[in-house]
Amino acid sequence: MKPAACEYVAARDLDHALQVLAQAGGDAKILAGGQSLMPMLNFRLLNPAILLDINRIAGLDRIIVKRDMVTIGPLVRHRTTATHPVIAKYFPILTKAMTHVAHHTIRNRGTFVGSLCHADPAAELPMMALLLNAEIEISSATGKRLVSARDFFLGPLVTVLEPQEMVTSVDLPFTSSSTGWGFEEFARRHGDYALAAVAVTLSRRRNQARHVRIAVMGVGETPLRMTAAEEVMDRNNLDALADVVEAIRRAVKPATDLHASAEYRRHLVGVLAGRAIAAAWGSAQ
Ligand SMILES: Cc1cc2nc3c(=O)[nH]c(=O)nc-3n(C[C@H](O)[C@H](O)[C@H](O)COP(=O)(O)OP(=O)(O)OC[C@H]3O[C@@H](n4cnc5c(N)ncnc54)[C@H](O)[C@@H]3O)c2cc1C
Repeated sequence: MKPAACEYVAARDLDHALQVLAQAGGDAKILAGGQSLMPMLNFRLLNPAILLDINRIAGLDRIIVKRDMVTIGPLVRHRTTATHPVIAKYFPILTKAMTHVAHHTIRNRGTFVGSLCHADPAAELPMMALLLNAEIEISSATGKRLVSARDFFLGPLVTVLEPQEMVTSVDLPFTSSSTGWGFEEFARRHGDYALAAVAVTLSRRRNQARHVRIAVMGVGETPLRMTAAEEVMDRNNLDALADVVEAIRRAVKPATDLHASAEYRRHLVGVLAGRAIAAAWGSAQ
């Protein structure tokens, strides 16, 4: 299928893009990598009056290293995130997660920020933003606001973004270099959206886990932080693993769909969590 007719606008710069959004009366869609938007337009699930292409705006494709964080621009492609040495150094868990995102052709165009804005509950990057305590900068013609990843995702394909707003950057605060991590995912075929995935970071002091973060996806309407399970693991060691896994299985609310039953997903997320926590424990220094 082909998209319905709409006006195509290639933004010259950020101000131009924000003006177009402000004047469109809520009837414009931003085109980043187009890997999720174009199928939705082709299937006529979306029918905007204006397609706002941000790909020609200079400077949006950078990963910028600051004192205590990296900042990811709205045109940073999946391939760049997957291969960037700074990401590999400070966020090896993100480099690992990127290997599960789609296929090469999609990774060449798709963007980190586009994935967050699309907010697919079975996508890796919203979960990673949640795990890494990302701060999302949202701009409009009238100003800027910062939203934490915890508050950004409202439901399947739904975020706090207003129609006249654009995500202009995502900050990922550094974690300590001694942080251990584990990432586990199960998909039927490599590159498919996952049935479930779990990402864990923690540090170890005197044989106790500290700063425990556990995020899951595929088992709820948005990616989720497992705060109760984090508390069970905190100041504990792998002796607590069964209790942590149980806390995760209690907290998730998977749905039965074409791909798997709710019970299967609940069981699966526990298995993946056990492996991810053990890997994080083992790699923490
Ligand atoms: C076959 C296939 C398999 C895939 N498998 C996976 C997978 O396994 N894991 C995974 O995570 N993803 C997967 N994807 C999705 C892929 O990662 C997309 O690239 C990503 O979800 C969207 O990024 P994009 O840059 O292409 O955004 P686009 O498609 O351009 O946009 C997506 C949405 O975000 C909005 N948007 C984009 N940028 C902004 C911005 N700066 N501010 C506000 N709104 C914005 C758009 O208006 C649109 O609503 C797959 C896609 C396909 C086609």
